[in-house]
Amino acid sequence: MVRWQIEQRGLHNTRLLAALRELPRHLFVQPGDESFAYYDEPLPIGYRQTISQPYITALMTSLAELEGEETVLEIGTGSGYQAALLGMLAKDVISIERIPELAERARKKLADLDITNVEVVVGDGTAGYSPGAPYQAILVTAAAPSVPSVLLEQLSESGRLIIPTGSRSVQQLQVWQRCGDHFDSEDILPVVFVPLLGEYGWKENP
Ligand code: SAM
Repeated sequence: MVRWQIEQRGLHNTRLLAALRELPRHLFVQPGDESFAYYDEPLPIGYRQTISQPYITALMTSLAELEGEETVLEIGTGSGYQAALLGMLAKDVISIERIPELAERARKKLADLDITNVEVVVGDGTAGYSPGAPYQAILVTAAAPSVPSVLLEQLSESGRLIIPTGSRSVQQLQVWQRCGDHFDSEDILPVVFVPLLGEYGWKENP
């Protein structure tokens, strides 16, 4: 997975590649799907949600430019795989999930792997999580109709927001970075995510 899906597509950060090699992705998929865990695709995790394609998880992590001392917010815990990866690469991680059963499952997996610097919170992550702010990086792993300004407000100086925005069917992965009193943004590539549902996201599943 790491050689053909990640390195071949141009991601070469050695800390990231080492963490991907170490983290057992098959523990984060549905029972019975373990043999597909390292395939180049997203997989269902129940509740109409998915664990993202390995490359997209790696790319979003790479775009966060983590060096090890950051406090990171993830919105959309899902399986907990991205949260675990962030926990291996940053100082502290808060991950918010709106579906309590997924949050509980992710908590158990993180505990089983002895990853203790990731806190999973149940709630609507479209408003971010102000008790932990400011964040050096915020990763939104569900598709937003637009960038919630409240998330930009929770970035530290030079902090980076990685977020897919667009329609329900296709989005553009974007990076926003705080530079003093303004934000720079960059489009990275088209992606397809499940919807970000909540106050500053999509209202409901169709
Ligand atoms: N990062 C996850 C992983 O590594 O498995 C994949 C996330 S999955 C593509 C998107 C997740 O976002 C789903 O679990 C969904 O329930 C969650 N979600 C959607 N809207 C949310 C919201 N407003 N707040 C928190 N979580 C949300």
